[in-house]
Amino acid sequence: MVESAETGTFAKAVGDLKKLLGDSGWKEGSDVAMYLDDPRGRFKGRSNLVALPKNVSEVSEIVKICSEYKLPLIPYGGGTGVVAGQLSIDNSDLVVVSLERMNKVREISAENSTLVAEAGCILANLKAAAQEKGLIFPLGMASEGSCRIGGNLATNAGGIQVLRHGNARDLCVGIEAVLPDGSIFSELAPLRKNNTGYDLRHLLIGSEGTLGIITAATLTLKPVPQETVTLFAAIQSPSTAVNLLGKLRNDLGDSVDAIELMSDLGIQLVNRHLADTVFPLGETSPWYLLIEFCGSTGLREEVEQAIMRHFESGIISDVVIAESEAQRLALWRLREETPEANRREGAICSSDTSVPIGRIEEFIARVGANLEAIQPGLRVNSYGHIGDGNIHHNVFPPEGTSKADYVEQSPDNIEAVRMAINEATNDCNGSISAEHGIGRLKTNDLSRFADPAKLSVMKKIKKALDPDNIMNPGALFDR
Ligand SMILES: Cc1cc2nc3c(=O)[nH]c(=O)nc-3n(C[C@H](O)[C@H](O)[C@H](O)COP(=O)(O)OP(=O)(O)OC[C@H]3O[C@@H](n4cnc5c(N)ncnc54)[C@H](O)[C@@H]3O)c2cc1C
Repeated sequence: MVESAETGTFAKAVGDLKKLLGDSGWKEGSDVAMYLDDPRGRFKGRSNLVALPKNVSEVSEIVKICSEYKLPLIPYGGGTGVVAGQLSIDNSDLVVVSLERMNKVREISAENSTLVAEAGCILANLKAAAQEKGLIFPLGMASEGSCRIGGNLATNAGGIQVLRHGNARDLCVGIEAVLPDGSIFSELAPLRKNNTGYDLRHLLIGSEGTLGIITAATLTLKPVPQETVTLFAAIQSPSTAVNLLGKLRNDLGDSVDAIELMSDLGIQLVNRHLADTVFPLGETSPWYLLIEFCGSTGLREEVEQAIMRHFESGIISDVVIAESEAQRLALWRLREETPEANRREGAICSSDTSVPIGRIEEFIARVGANLEAIQPGLRVNSYGHIGDGNIHHNVFPPEGTSKADYVEQSPDNIEAVRMAINEATNDCNGSISAEHGIGRLKTNDLSRFADPAKLSVMKKIKKALDPDNIMNPGALFDR
């Protein structure tokens, strides 16, 4: 291991890195503060040096120096990860490698429907570049103005369009990366078929910076839809939502682009905490769906006919269809402001779990029962990407108790609530991390709930590729 920050090996390694990168290629002291923040404010990162490589050769040289001195490094994208994968909590003698200067779209091919982007390209910029060529990159999430494509791939990010287009993994056909020994792996050709042994691309996607630094990727693009139809509907239960999704897919094929479940409590919280949001229906209901359809000309008429049928049969009890882009955005605000409303209400737990969609109703009921057993009166807002079985549970203290008071009075309940949700997830054959990853937040959960054979192979792969454990040590596994 490295010695202190002042003397010895760490100082020598830092000297070599600064010489390699030149004056504009690194930051230290108070300039690194912005790389140490957690978006949810639960953790504070530590690091004595941030490296800012400008190309893949520099990334390779950085990794070779780290490998020589056995100096830990953390790959860093936009810093929007919510499981502390990008933050060193307990050690400052390491290098954060930020890809922010590697932010170019290298090429767009309309013929191949692909785009090659450097890892530091901000997701929203990459989407705008595709749009300029009349194509879309269908990965969408509220953090897209800050997160970077390298981070999206390293976490295998999901978001609102997974139902139709898949997650980051499904949208990536090629990867360039620097491996823990500094070697450059490059398979960026836009190939849809490539059966030549183990697929390192898929190993690196979702590896959270523990197996290498992604430096560029080839991404698949889709045509711009000719029509988009957005609606907000009242329904009675999560199982009604799953039933409706099946019917809509029968009616309209794969034009269902997004389907978001929201609870009445969730909508109340958005309306309570975000003054200019409007409840769009006449009467309240226990549950709501925000649905967006994308497709070719004539889609709106087909959607209206299908929705009318499901209204008449009683599956939907009320509905509003957006008549303008402003109305569409107002409906989406109800969903996109949900995390902020949860934060302002004082959530003591925010989960990211998935279950088979046929078990969503049971899952929500199990979570409710488990919480009731901890303390009657705890409130829960269950919502999320119902077509992916990805339900987030945000839990609040009983009405009238603030988060600060609750944390002080009942500190043990915070972990009990988290575990109650994990247990319900496990009982429903689900995943304790649907889209955010493991990072440093869920390493114990992974040890407890992962398939033992899978965990054992993961550790062997890590050891084989990174024998000195320099790539993001402490993420995915305990050190
Ligand atoms: C408001 C908000 C909304 C969000 N919504 C969603 C959502 O809908 N769906 C979703 O999936 N996530 C969501 N997230 C989580 C987050 O935005 C994603 O996990 C995102 O993919 C992280 O990208 P980043 O560039 O910010 O990565 P960072 O936070 O910088 O890093 C995340 C992890 O990836 C590693 N990493 C970063 N860059 C590289 C690289 N080039 N090579 C190798 N490893 C790397 C880091 O070491 C770390 O382990 C949301 C977050 C916020 C704050």
